[in-house]
Amino acid sequence: MSNRSVWSWHQGDRRWLLSLLVLGVAVMVVIGLGPLARSQAAVGRTELIWYGQSAFKVTTPAGNVLIFDPWLKNPANPQGQAVLDGLDRADLLLVTHGHGDHVGDAVAIAQKTKAKLIASYDLGNAMVAHLGYPKEQFGFEVTGNFSGKISLLNGDVEVAFVPAVHSSAVATDGNPQPFFAGNPGGFWVKIRNGPTFYHTGDTDLFGDMNLISQFGPVDYMLACIGGKFTMGPDRAAMAVKLVNPKVVVPMHFGLFSLPGTPEQFAAALQAQSVSAPMKLMQVGVPERI
Ligand SMILES: [Zn+2]
Repeated sequence: MSNRSVWSWHQGDRRWLLSLLVLGVAVMVVIGLGPLARSQAAVGRTELIWYGQSAFKVTTPAGNVLIFDPWLKNPANPQGQAVLDGLDRADLLLVTHGHGDHVGDAVAIAQKTKAKLIASYDLGNAMVAHLGYPKEQFGFEVTGNFSGKISLLNGDVEVAFVPAVHSSAVATDGNPQPFFAGNPGGFWVKIRNGPTFYHTGDTDLFGDMNLISQFGPVDYMLACIGGKFTMGPDRAAMAVKLVNPKVVVPMHFGLFSLPGTPEQFAAALQAQSVSAPMKLMQVGVPERI
């Protein structure tokens, strides 16, 4: 073999090795991107709808339906009755405390859909005893108390009970004396193949909010901002700083002449250099997240 043929042989060999290398890199890229592509496909399959005040409906990628503080027929939601009439599925109702603007239409939804009630032991029992929530839809497996975490719907949803600084009682028509309903709370909720939520319930700002994301990073913080009975825009912005979510959605404003507005909240977030963007949802308009 001449020097020339050795050289060209080596050249061919190199080309072959180069092709192999390119192929190898391509295979690695495909293998490496596979899970990423799958996780990106999973994102965007959770649906979130705000119905005004603190009511949110979440439909998980698996199709399960959760409703937070289900006051569907509130004055901010003129379609409330139609939404209630058209609601053909709800698996879990998560109620933060006993006040009427949070318990809302829980009993009507429960009767219609057989939804289980997720609430503290005291609140759930008060709703069963005094409001007529179906007793068989509030069992041991769906209740807990602060620091507790429960897994529901075959692991599709994890719920942690989070404290709130507020009050809680249930009232019945014609009875001026409200009934004890435990301590008020919020919820940390992780959706399988979907986002993690922190619904604050009604609360003041409290320093331990900075522990909440240690349950797991919070993607969507649903934060009360209206003031008077809860955090107003400035304190809510500070709360967002403590929780450090990816996105904050303002709630509990615009009714009962509550003074805080989303505009003030946006300004407070900016003034306090909070990096999380505010997402102002439109009542009744579904968002894929
Ligand atoms: Zn409220």
